[in-house]
Amino acid sequence: MRADGSNGKNGLVRDEEHGEQLAPLLGVIGDPIGHTLSPVIHTLFAARSSTAIGGYWPFEVRRENLEDAVRGAHALGIRGMNVTVPHKSAVIPLLSGIDPLAARIGAVNTLVYEEEGYRGYNTDATGLKRALEEAGVKLEGAHAVILGAGGAARAVAFLCAMEGTAEISVINRTRERAEALCSEVNDKVRNCARTVSLPEWIHMQERKRAAGGEKAIAFQCTSVGLYPKAEESVTEDPAFFENLFFAVDIVYRPIMTKFLRSAGKAGVPTLGGLSMLLYQAADAFSLWFPGKKLSPPALRYVLRVLQIQLRGYAGIHLIGFMGSGKTTVGRALAERLHYDLWDTDQMIEEGCGKSVSRIFAEEGETAFRELEMKTLQKIGEILDSPWEGETDGLVLSTGGGLPMREENRRWLKKGAVRVVYLRVRPETVVDRLGNDTTRPLLAGADEAEKRARVEKLMAERDPVYEECADLIVDADEKTPDEIALEIMTGLSA
Ligand code: NAP
Repeated sequence: MRADGSNGKNGLVRDEEHGEQLAPLLGVIGDPIGHTLSPVIHTLFAARSSTAIGGYWPFEVRRENLEDAVRGAHALGIRGMNVTVPHKSAVIPLLSGIDPLAARIGAVNTLVYEEEGYRGYNTDATGLKRALEEAGVKLEGAHAVILGAGGAARAVAFLCAMEGTAEISVINRTRERAEALCSEVNDKVRNCARTVSLPEWIHMQERKRAAGGEKAIAFQCTSVGLYPKAEESVTEDPAFFENLFFAVDIVYRPIMTKFLRSAGKAGVPTLGGLSMLLYQAADAFSLWFPGKKLSPPALRYVLRVLQIQLRGYAGIHLIGFMGSGKTTVGRALAERLHYDLWDTDQMIEEGCGKSVSRIFAEEGETAFRELEMKTLQKIGEILDSPWEGETDGLVLSTGGGLPMREENRRWLKKGAVRVVYLRVRPETVVDRLGNDTTRPLLAGADEAEKRARVEKLMAERDPVYEECADLIVDADEKTPDEIALEIMTGLSA
C-alpha cells in the first residue's frame, strides 16, 4: 500500500514498494455480525472459481460509525462489501451510485468499488428470484402474503410486484411500517399491495377460496424463529397454512424453522432461506468479479458445505427392527431434505446380483455380514468428505441386524452423520409384517408364536439400537411424513 494510505484503482490495493497488485479485499458490515456465513461462502466461491482474494472480513459497525466505515473501506481500496442489518437503507446516501433495482427497493446489500465511491446493488431480490426459479415457483398471477415489513420484506415485496403477482398482502407487527411499504410498492411499481392483519387475511382468503379463488404463496420475512429462538414462529395457525400453495421462510438458521414445519404439517411445499442466501452471495460475487464464473457444481458444493455447517450432518442413518418403516420414512425424509435415499440391502443385492435371502441361503449369514460391513465402509468414506462426494446428502436405510456388530456400529457413525433409531412396539411389527412370507423369522408361526419371536429378538436388539442412536423416534401409529418432520426437528435441536 502507498505510504500516504491511498488506494489503487478498482479496489485493488497496490504494493508500491514491490510493484505488485495485491489480491482484492472483501468484507461485510452489520451490527451484529458474529453469525454471518458470508466469509465462508465467498472464500469458497473464490477457491472454486480460482479467484485470488486477500480475504473476506466481517466488520461490526455501529449506526453512528457507518459513514466513517464506508469512506474508510473505500480509502483502503476494499473491492466489495456486503451490507446487512441495520444498514441496508442508511448506507444509500453514502454511495456514489445506485443500481435502479436497489433504488426502487430502497435497500442495498452489496457495494462495488468505483473510483469515486461505492455503487450499491440489491442482490437479496435477485438471489430470491433465482432460488424461486430453481424451486419451480412462478410469481406471475399469484397472490403473495408477506409476513414482515423490514429490509428483507422490502426486497421480497418489490420482487413480487415486478414479477407480476396479482396481489400482495403485507402483515407486520408494526402496521404503519407495512402501510409505508405497500404505498411505496403501489407508487413505484403498480397498485397491487395492501396491509392486513393475520386474522383479516385468513378470513378474506377463506371467502375467496370458497368462491373458487386460488391459494397463496407466503414469504416469512420477520426475524421470528431465528436461532437461538428457533421455537418461535409468527404464526402456527393451521387456517393460515391451509390457504397456501407454497411457503418460503427467508430465515436460514435453523434450516428447518418452526414456520416451515407448520407448513410441512399442512402438506404445503416449502423453501428455506439458504438458497436465497447462496444466490444473493453468488450475484454479489459476480458484481465484484464480472469475468469469473461460478459454475453450477461450484454452487452446489458451497450449498452442501453450508447445509452441513448449519445442520451438522450430511447423512442420516436409519436403524431399527424390520417393519419399523426405515424405507418409507427414509423416502419421506430424503424428499424433504433433497437428499438421496440409499439402502444397504439394495446396495448389496445390486453389487452381488442376487437377493439377500439367496446370499443367506447360498453363502451363509457371515458372508452377508461381511458384505454389509464393506458397504458401510464405502458409505462412511463418502460421508467423511461429503462436499466432494457422490451425493448431495444421504438418508440410509439399514438392515435390521446391521448395528449388532460392533465394527458396523463404528462405521455407522463415521463422517458427518446422525443415527436415528425408529422404535416400534412388537405388535406393530407383527401387524405390518405378519403376512410377509419372505421373512424367515415369522415363517410358519401362528400369531402368538410370531409375537413371541419378535419380542425375543427385539429384547436383544433394542439396547444396542438405543446405544448407537443419536436420536430415538417412536414410530408406531404415525405417518412417514410425520416421522420425517419429527426427525428433522429432533436433529436440528
Ligand atoms: P429487519 O429489517 O430488522 O426487520 C425485521 C422484521 O421482523 C420486521 O418486520 C419486524 O417487525 C419483524 N419482527 C421482529 N421481531 C418480531 C416479533 N417479535 N414479532 C413480530 N414481528 C417481529 O430485518 P430484515 O433485514 O428484514 O431481516 C429479517 C430476517 O430475514 C432476518 O432473520 C434475516 O436473517 C433474514 N434474511 C435472510 C436473507 C437470506 O438470504 N436468506 C436475506 C436477508 C434477510 P416490526 O416492523 O414490527 O419491528
